[in-house]
Amino acid sequence: MSNPAEAKRALEARLQEFVGTETGPPTTGPDLVNEAMIRHWAEAMEDRNPIYTDAAAAKESVHGGIVAPPTMMQAWILGGMAMAQPPTGDEPRDEQNNLHAILTENGYPSVVATNCEQEYHRYLKPGDEVQATTVIESISDQKATALGTGYFINTRTEFSVDGEAVGWMKFRVLKFTPNEAPAAASDDGGGGPMSQAPRRLRPTLGHDNKWWWDGLEEGKFLIQKCSACGVQRHPPRPMCGECQSIEWGSVESTMKGAVHSYVVIHHPPVPGYDYPLVCALIDLDEGIRFVSNVIDCAPGDVHVGMKVEGRIEQVDDEMKLPLFRAVK
Ligand SMILES: [Zn+2]
Repeated sequence: MSNPAEAKRALEARLQEFVGTETGPPTTGPDLVNEAMIRHWAEAMEDRNPIYTDAAAAKESVHGGIVAPPTMMQAWILGGMAMAQPPTGDEPRDEQNNLHAILTENGYPSVVATNCEQEYHRYLKPGDEVQATTVIESISDQKATALGTGYFINTRTEFSVDGEAVGWMKFRVLKFTPNEAPAAASDDGGGGPMSQAPRRLRPTLGHDNKWWWDGLEEGKFLIQKCSACGVQRHPPRPMCGECQSIEWGSVESTMKGAVHSYVVIHHPPVPGYDYPLVCALIDLDEGIRFVSNVIDCAPGDVHVGMKVEGRIEQVDDEMKLPLFRAVK
């Protein structure tokens, strides 16, 4: 089996044998649905809906008593801390573990969860015993992604209580060979010290957006403006969503605005970015919303409504980006 194409075909045929199989016997939640875990969850999520924690208020609600947040569904069947222990090798391996082991042995050691979709048929109530059965629903062809090359594994888990379906979850992971960090960028002609460091992801440039990036190069944050009705829009696109005109010009933004929403990204670290990384939706005073990073600010100090001001900065040897800082 020295021929790589043949080895790949053999591996993929082996992977497909897993499709449609259950990953193991049904999992039964280690605890019945209970108010203590619901309360901890509500606290962690800062969810103050009284139907989760206030027995009197919950009794007056349509539920007639405390219920569990639907998004806790998977929490009821999780195995707890044992999952964090290194495997001893003695555990019975279920089909999912076997599938992952085969991919690991064939050079795809890394795993990252990429998608999760859930549907709930009813609220869970204290005393419910949740059971789950997981089927390996499909395995993709080999895909090249920003993280590396590998296979997407889709599973579908059915949740039930006493045989009654209460919800389902589709879960997708990528089992992959990590890309080499784009270290010495010797192929781009760069020579300075910055060219040695991994760089941020590059935009895909085309007819409809290159003008915007050219503006940044000239130190201008431009906002597209419909020539017919005057409505401003971002990101750049060929047609006005208000009046369908394809005539447009641009105005220069003051880069002043406020944080509409944000997340602080810790993992997975993508080369070229500093972590923790604050990614924010910023409402610019001109009326458009823009995605950027808030920098020079402790992530804990960022808040919705925070006034920010942007500046176009050189982020590596060839790229400029608008980055935002809190207005003092
Ligand atoms: Zn228009």
